[in-house]
Amino acid sequence: MTTLIWLRDDLRLADHPALTAACSGAHGPVVALWIHETRRTDEDNNRHGPRPLGAATRWWYHRSLQQLAPRLADLGIPLVFARGDAASIVRRVVATLQPTFVHWTRRYAPAACRLDAAIKEELKSRADVHSHPGSLLAEPWLMRTASGSHYQVFTPFSHAVADLPLAPLLPEPPPVDEPDGAATALATLREDGVLQNLEDLGLLDDGPAWWEDTLAQHWEPGELAAREQLDAVDNWLPGYAKRRDLPGEETSTSRISPRLRCGELSPRQALAAARSSTAAGEDITAWTRQLYWREFCWHLLHHREQLEDTPMRPAFAQFPYHPNDHLVRAWRHGRTGIDLVDSGMWQLWQTGWMHNRVRMVAASLFTKNMLQPWQDGEQWFWETLVDADEANNPVSWQWVAGCGADAAPYFRVFNPELQRTRFDPHSSYVKRWTPEGLARPVVPIVDLAESRREALAAYEQVRAAS
Ligand code: FAD
Repeated sequence: MTTLIWLRDDLRLADHPALTAACSGAHGPVVALWIHETRRTDEDNNRHGPRPLGAATRWWYHRSLQQLAPRLADLGIPLVFARGDAASIVRRVVATLQPTFVHWTRRYAPAACRLDAAIKEELKSRADVHSHPGSLLAEPWLMRTASGSHYQVFTPFSHAVADLPLAPLLPEPPPVDEPDGAATALATLREDGVLQNLEDLGLLDDGPAWWEDTLAQHWEPGELAAREQLDAVDNWLPGYAKRRDLPGEETSTSRISPRLRCGELSPRQALAAARSSTAAGEDITAWTRQLYWREFCWHLLHHREQLEDTPMRPAFAQFPYHPNDHLVRAWRHGRTGIDLVDSGMWQLWQTGWMHNRVRMVAASLFTKNMLQPWQDGEQWFWETLVDADEANNPVSWQWVAGCGADAAPYFRVFNPELQRTRFDPHSSYVKRWTPEGLARPVVPIVDLAESRREALAAYEQVRAAS
């Protein structure tokens, strides 16, 4: 009896309900599959499948999968790879491998749910298919307000999540018995071109050529490094409530976002680590609140179509943005003449990550002072962030742009110069990330006061029309 586990955004061994179920029920070989998926749009404009990974995230997955494969092999589980349309790949793998059981961790974006539901329906006459929790603290459909609808406002949602019991974490599963039992079927799938080597999946294509080495200087993908980061909770959590907004301090936040993105850590592990730390209560509360923001973003995404390009507040579809390639290029390349934003864009380019405070300021400048469509900025972050997340990224962009759920009031336009004085008073962040000798405008590329007035006038236009 063969068991197939389809891994997606859950690249770990510990606290992995789907993997635990696959191994504990196994009386025969267990095979793990990971697919570099494409997404399909049907004639009714419905998307099927997850949002295709951006360049920096692809780099991360490549490295993380490299780390995971030998660890799964030690458990007797071969990890095999494919690239393309997940529905047809899973169909062919199941036809050849003939598993009795198929397991996976649930995904929550509507387009991914649609695909997974269709695959489950198709497979159910051939295998016993089980989907499991593991990527969120709470299943989105179980989180209901008193009136039975889903949450639109963060604070009551966060209280509801905080009240949920945290069941004991799952250990890594023990080795399975018959590692070689699936060898013939896997050889056939390789000969037929269904399975490929990790190196042939194209995960490292299209990124800037020097990224491969540069990102590796800042990050070590993989579950073991992720756990080390979490085990060091007492280094980064104490003082979090006061230091989390200071981008110049290297350890002012956890930097576990890419780990949560690809599931090297579960949010349950993260929550348990914070709760068991020696940090002060106010630090634990402030940090878990951020983890609940992640949960809230996924809750919103589960209930919304196409969050990555459709404003949650419909009136914003008519917002009078002024698309301007020159401004977009200057912003992307860290040449706006506004120190905090330029340093942030350079931190992003050099490390695939940017501090949250600077993300907010950079997004505010882009959407408000520059009047560029938030979708364009979101897409750049999607390509360049190692933590680019299908829920957090669009929800955060919409929040800053003023068109999201529970969004920042539109009239609150960050002043990047004041933000710098307040949160980087000794310029340690700006000095750290602006490349020496970089040619930048000596004055800001937009007049901050004038562009603020224009942004507010544009907002009034939308308000009057809605
Ligand atoms: P910590 O401060 O240590 O927080 C712990 C965890 O909580 C994070 O790892 C993350 O999972 C979650 N979290 C923290 N802040 C937020 C938030 N505001 N919204 C949702 N979850 C949060 N986060 C992503 O994970 N992926 C993205 O693509 C992303 N895009 C963003 C785009 C913009 C414009 C903005 C303003 C924010 C974005 N964020 C995104 C949220 C936030 O900036 C990052 O989660 C955070 O900087 C990650 O660093 P950390 O792990 O050190 O966070």
